[in-house]
Amino acid sequence: MEITEVRVKLVDNKDSRLKAFCSITLDNEFVIRDIKIIEGGKGHFVAMPSRKMSDHCEKCGGKNHLRAKFCNNCGARLPDNRAKKDFKGRMKLHADIAHPINIECRKRIQKKVAAAFKAEVEKSKEPGYKPVELDELEDKVPVDEPEDKSPEDEPEDKSPENEPEDKFPEDEPEDEVPEIVS
Ligand SMILES: [Zn+2]
Repeated sequence: MEITEVRVKLVDNKDSRLKAFCSITLDNEFVIRDIKIIEGGKGHFVAMPSRKMSDHCEKCGGKNHLRAKFCNNCGARLPDNRAKKDFKGRMKLHADIAHPINIECRKRIQKKVAAAFKAEVEKSKEPGYKPVELDELEDKVPVDEPEDKSPEDEPEDKSPENEPEDKFPEDEPEDEVPEIVS
């Protein structure tokens, strides 16, 4: 499997731990969107697309985020600590939608995405920089085909000469993913 394109849309907010949205194209024919670059305690890391997990209110069956204290639907008080814990004892609030199943592949994706992120950050310092168009987070289905354009200035097949300064540790917990304000 080749990662044939990486698109990076930088998040222009210094206070946010979310640094960029990315999409990757696999073998020129499959796109994964909503990959995020997040600033963690040990440097930046790549977060696979994920969704919040939810459960159902025992009283009315309404759907609630695991951290909700009261039911969205009936207002009933919900029990605390409904989230399962991961092996490090941290609450598991998100589940990956798409993710690599081995470390080798994870590293490959991280490396590509990290290099593209770095290149995009450099590019953004140049005058007249135009951010990449990427749909963000809205669960909208695009009406017309958005892809199939490969602008020449994409950081596509650049193999980085030097390792990115930012570390992309393998085992950042998913629940480090901050709330994303749209
Ligand atoms: Zn309820």
